[in-house]
Amino acid sequence: AVSTLKAGFENSFAALPKKFYEAITPEPVQNPVLQKYNWKLDRELGLNFTKETEDLADCLAGNLVFADSTPIAMAYAGHQFGNFVPQLGDGRVILLGEKITPDGKRLDVQLKGSGRTRFSRGGDGKSPLGPVIREYIISEAMHNLGVPTTRALAIISTGEQILRPDGVHPGAIMARVASGFVRVGSFEYFAARGDETAIRELADYVIGRHYPELIQKKDRYRQFFSSVARKQARLVAKWMHLGFIHGVMNTDNTSISGETIDYGPCAFMDYYDPDMVFSSIDTMGRYRYANQGAIMKWNLNCLGICLQSLLGKTNEAAADVIDATLSEFEHEFLNAQRIGLLKKIGIENPGDQDSSLLGELLALMQNQKADFTLTFRYLADHIKPDSDMTPQFQKLFKTPVAVTAWLESWQQRLVEENSPEVIQAQMNRVNPLFIPRNHRVHKAIENAEDRDDFSQVHLLTTLYENPFTEQPDFTDYAQAPANQERVTRTFCGT
Ligand code: AMP
Ligand code: MG
Ligand code: MG
Repeated sequence: AVSTLKAGFENSFAALPKKFYEAITPEPVQNPVLQKYNWKLDRELGLNFTKETEDLADCLAGNLVFADSTPIAMAYAGHQFGNFVPQLGDGRVILLGEKITPDGKRLDVQLKGSGRTRFSRGGDGKSPLGPVIREYIISEAMHNLGVPTTRALAIISTGEQILRPDGVHPGAIMARVASGFVRVGSFEYFAARGDETAIRELADYVIGRHYPELIQKKDRYRQFFSSVARKQARLVAKWMHLGFIHGVMNTDNTSISGETIDYGPCAFMDYYDPDMVFSSIDTMGRYRYANQGAIMKWNLNCLGICLQSLLGKTNEAAADVIDATLSEFEHEFLNAQRIGLLKKIGIENPGDQDSSLLGELLALMQNQKADFTLTFRYLADHIKPDSDMTPQFQKLFKTPVAVTAWLESWQQRLVEENSPEVIQAQMNRVNPLFIPRNHRVHKAIENAEDRDDFSQVHLLTTLYENPFTEQPDFTDYAQAPANQERVTRTFCGT
């Protein structure tokens, strides 16, 4: 049924040919309750709903359709763990429409967990509450940490029971927002079908939407490919700076807009280990922390192959463009990663010796199982030459004396950099104190699923709004898990 409520939606994707999507209305749910609504994001979007807005919960649950929505499920394919699957698509997601924000941006608004679509394959099209909470907390934290990402607008519990291999879970729907949900896999869907016309239409669509400055350019497809590559390079570098492991970097989870999408088994690592993996299904460690740059390059190669006929007159010419763009990606990624990590140790004007200084610290952190986030954060207390190690910093290392020599060379290096006060302020702007630690998110989910208690969900989202600011009442939430609290496995949010 259609509501009289309008969201101010446009539906430009639905104006593309029918093969790009399935027109479909969400399945109604039993008992929708708006458990969490992101009022700040609502205002940024210019939705301007209030607690009194009639039909809001029903429209976000899919029981009613916004008056100006043309709901669709998007078609896409993808390489999952390196294996090509010619048809994936929105199996439990429905795009409601595009909201033009007060500052002129066009953003997609989706429901996740709103029932079966043509792309559901064996799935039920639903989502348990746990993964919805996880995505809400982590994606909003990522945004506040300065990382391009999908945003979380709402959590609606459905009153339904969702059956999964590990048991029955309460059901939920998530409303989420992105500057676009076209993925590398969207191109692969049409490449697999040999549909060159569709590839050009899709490329023109995303260029118009995400790279309008390229529309008039003769070599717009090459520049488009290289723009996506550079955006992704900077994105993955940001993940690296935060110890974030995406966990399921399949090409269907690699967005053309350069935002982090799909918060299934992702996690922030606690102690530093470049080989860290959380996802229960990533048994080979393909998506381990230190492999994320190489994987993004692999994914971009897939995109390049889809765009081949647009990149060069001959296959050879296109192959040269792809090679050059992937080299550009690698250069941009390594550079952004290095510069960002150096900023984390207070170095804004890198010199020749600084990479080895950084490498030595990372090696120490790895050997000593030091907490990634807190090592950088607490390091800023030791900028002044001869300053003693604080107890909180010492606690991060198994044998703190192993770090003494490194601290001295670092302190000497910083003397050339700036005043201790300036360096400390700079470091605290790039080294968060609060990240959505696995054990905290896990606890918040447990309380909500088992006892309908959302207090930790509210607390964590509020806390992570200011991840770089000390919040004296919540110092425990900055801490790494004790051994018995550690959550070492994460699951795809199916
Ligand atoms: P993901 O692991 O989230 O990247 O999803 C991979 C594919 O599986 C996508 O096509 C999803 O739409 C689909 N999918 C995941 N969970 C479900 C579900 N419960 N019902 C239907 N499709 C699903
Ligand atoms: Mg996905
Ligand atoms: Mg997922």
